[in-house]
Amino acid sequence: GAAPPAEPAPSAAALPYQDPTLPVADRVGDLLSRMSLDDKLGQMTQIEKDSLVPQSDLAAYRIGSVLSGGDSTVSPNNAQTWADTYDSLQRTALGTSLGIPLIYGIDAVHGHNAVRGATIFPHNIGLGATRDPALVQRIGRAVAEEMAGTGIDWDFAPCLCVARDDRWGRTYESFGEKPELPTSMATFVTGLQGATLGADPASVLATAKHYIGDGGTTSGVDQGNTQLTEAELRALHLPPFQEAVRRGVGSVMLSYSSWNGVRSHAHKYLVTDVLKGELGFTGFVVSDWAAVDQLDGQSGFTGAEITTAVNAGVDMVMVPYDYKKFLTLLRGEVSAGRISQARVDDANRRILTKKFQLGLFERPLTDRSYTSGVGSAAHRAIAREAVRESQVLLKNDGGILPLPKGAKLFVAGKSADDIGNQSGGWTLGWQGRSGPVTEGTTILQGIRAAANDPSQVTYDRYGNGIGAGYTAAVAVIGETPYAEGRGDRPNGMGLDQEDLSTLARLKASGVPVVVVLVSGRPLDIAAQLPDWKALLAAWLPGTEGNGVSDVLFGDHAPTGKLPMTWMRGASQQPINDGDGQTPLFPYGHGLTYGTTPDPDPDPEPVPGACTAQFRTVASWSGGYQAEVTVKNTGTGPLTGWNVAWDLGGSTVSSLWNGSLTVSAGRATVHSAAHNGALSPGATTSFGFTANGPTGTPATHCAGS
Ligand code: BGC
Repeated sequence: GAAPPAEPAPSAAALPYQDPTLPVADRVGDLLSRMSLDDKLGQMTQIEKDSLVPQSDLAAYRIGSVLSGGDSTVSPNNAQTWADTYDSLQRTALGTSLGIPLIYGIDAVHGHNAVRGATIFPHNIGLGATRDPALVQRIGRAVAEEMAGTGIDWDFAPCLCVARDDRWGRTYESFGEKPELPTSMATFVTGLQGATLGADPASVLATAKHYIGDGGTTSGVDQGNTQLTEAELRALHLPPFQEAVRRGVGSVMLSYSSWNGVRSHAHKYLVTDVLKGELGFTGFVVSDWAAVDQLDGQSGFTGAEITTAVNAGVDMVMVPYDYKKFLTLLRGEVSAGRISQARVDDANRRILTKKFQLGLFERPLTDRSYTSGVGSAAHRAIAREAVRESQVLLKNDGGILPLPKGAKLFVAGKSADDIGNQSGGWTLGWQGRSGPVTEGTTILQGIRAAANDPSQVTYDRYGNGIGAGYTAAVAVIGETPYAEGRGDRPNGMGLDQEDLSTLARLKASGVPVVVVLVSGRPLDIAAQLPDWKALLAAWLPGTEGNGVSDVLFGDHAPTGKLPMTWMRGASQQPINDGDGQTPLFPYGHGLTYGTTPDPDPDPEPVPGACTAQFRTVASWSGGYQAEVTVKNTGTGPLTGWNVAWDLGGSTVSSLWNGSLTVSAGRATVHSAAHNGALSPGATTSFGFTANGPTGTPATHCAGS
């Protein structure tokens, strides 16, 4: 390795760049004019915390950024120790003559997931199912606050990938298969950064990743090749980045993948012309982990790889280990003129601008007032809300859900009582793992807490001991944790042997089975589905398993909608909405139990008062049965009423209790053809059978 560069002479205090009252651009200009080439090259260098030996190298090599990769940890693993570690590194960085603070990055991709005890939110696929960008923004804020408690300035999130093939191991990092979902969920950027970067002490830098086309590779191979025309690439994969840039995202991470055979990290047109030019991105571009040193297909840096990446537009290289070799090679490329001084200055201007905007020069150390907020009740409440909203009810024969409280239940399955399984990859380790990896509520604990009488709930992981006499068996099954390419599933996407054996035991008992599927993507379940009375897709809900039981027992009616098209079998992969294949469940599918708020802003005054509750009591492929309950919520008798609901493409084939008219996609039932007047508080109901999708009918009641 190279010898550390010599330390320049200390400069006087209160220089223009240190003056917070000056515009950021002026401070950057002043600082740049004082920096040596080594200072500048150091700013372009990001290294893994654990590779820094000795710690004084941080100052000696003027390293500008540190990260914690997926397996990075501190001991003991708690927020306090993370904050201490951060402050110690930051103090070392500040020890140079210019005192440029470091920026510390981490993958807080579903909560501050490297920290034991932090709140773990649903992975992005579940958040996509919520269709709730405002909630996702609140989650971003909560994550930023937990990060602030450990000092860490920069989140390598959100992943804005548009996952087009479920075989891809990163499918769960995607908000959905269509560009509009990741685009709408770019609110996460605003949650992390705040409306203005650095305007409050909990603001952290966001990263839109991985630019571009990471979710579009052939056969869903991680780090593979995305073969699309430019028009297709722009239509499918660019919109979320456009939106993130519009929201002022501070950094963009490039994708390991290639576009038509050329790696993103070498793609000057995509990075410099499109992202920085056309989209007007003024933040900085960071490479992915060791992505530059694998550009030539071999590990280990070469000067040529560094030149290719930096000239393509990479401003900071996530080295992450051999910083001495990297810096020697980078310096050599600049000295030989293969990388221009202007490019080095541009990269520095971009990085330093974000450091100034974040307030790192004024507030370099951890704001300890946030430390006790890691894993706080307030953040867990937001996570529980997200879990509830992310549940997608795919099947509910005979209205078996919601489960009656106090019913005799048998709970089984490898993910019923496993916080590691329900959190998935990127949880206390890159790959995540099964078992009690962190603190939270398992789905079983949630079920026990929600049941009126916990002694009525029997649990056996494998389904042993089940007999007649139970209302339902709840099987919590699915995938065990994985991340990135290790989660690629080119050879079938069915349930594993343990799940199949558990299901067989439950089936043999004759007890009705409700399946809660804990998985990072749709699985190949078509063969087992007929055995199940109900199916709830829970995705990877994170630490708040009581959000799942809230839905199982009807404390919250399910509202989640599929963010991915659900295959009939793995041979349909890739399957996406509108591609002409017939899925098991279409994109956007999701049943509910009962009331849906009336979204119809009726401009006419409504005489009388009534409500109408809509409840799907049974569904099958191609049809469903529903019940509508009308209630007089007024103070006097309701002499006339009519209830209308949107059919959402379905057709009513039969109605009990009265008659209905259908016009313009709306079905209407009148009191005259039903049971007549209702006294205050009284209800009446009718049911019908329909062909087509259930959707979420908007019911509307008008009375007089
Ligand atoms: C992943 C990135 C992540 C980086 C740093 C890489 O393996 O592709 O998404 O930000 O590691 O941990």
